[in-house]
This record gives sequence, C-alpha cells and structure tokens, in this order.
Amino acid sequence: MVISIAESTAIRSNGHAWCTADNDGCVGNTIERTRCGDCNNAVIGRGHLHIYRQLYCNLKELLECSGIGESGRVRVLRDLERCREVFMQLGCDPETSAV
Ligand code: SF4
Repeated sequence: MVISIAESTAIRSNGHAWCTADNDGCVGNTIERTRCGDCNNAVIGRGHLHIYRQLYCNLKELLECSGIGESGRVRVLRDLERCREVFMQLGCDPETSAV
C-alpha cells in the first residue's frame, strides 16, 4: 500500500507533519506551522507531538505578553487551538500528557 501511494501521491516531511499537498509552497511548511494541524493534506502522528508540545508551551507564554495587541492575541489563540486539536485527535491532553 505504501509503495502504491508513494507512486501517486506526494508525501514530504516538513518536520511537524507529513504533507501530501502537490507542492511545497505552503506557509504551513515554514512560517505558519500550526496550519498543518487542521489541514486535510497533513498526516500527523504521535511522533510529532513533542513539536506541538513545544509550540503549545511557547504560545501560552506569548499569550501572557501584553505587547502583542488584540490581533496578536487572536492569532495566538487560533494557533493554540490548532495545537490543542492535534493533541485531542491523537487522544492526548495538551495540559497533562507527557510526550
Ligand atoms: S498546511 Fe497542509 S498543505 Fe500546508 S504544509 Fe501543512 S499539510 Fe502541507
């Protein structure tokens, strides 16, 4: 099955997901990594959770910063939710589970 899929579908690791999009031009590969969390082209496994753990912790710290403004706060909350959703879909709680 893997050989069959590999011959017809692009599969690239970007470090925080396996991306099956046709090309690698998406910002989810680089500057907006949480985007992969709710993308239908992404395959994310438990092996990626340590990355989402770090992202989640960093975003929680960022949320405490007063200088990020309202738009920054909205973006941080969006990205926190994306990370939280990855944990939940893999049966983990981002607040309690060790990775
Ligand atoms: S958001 Fe989707 S298309 Fe973009 S890099 Fe992530 S998995 Fe690929």
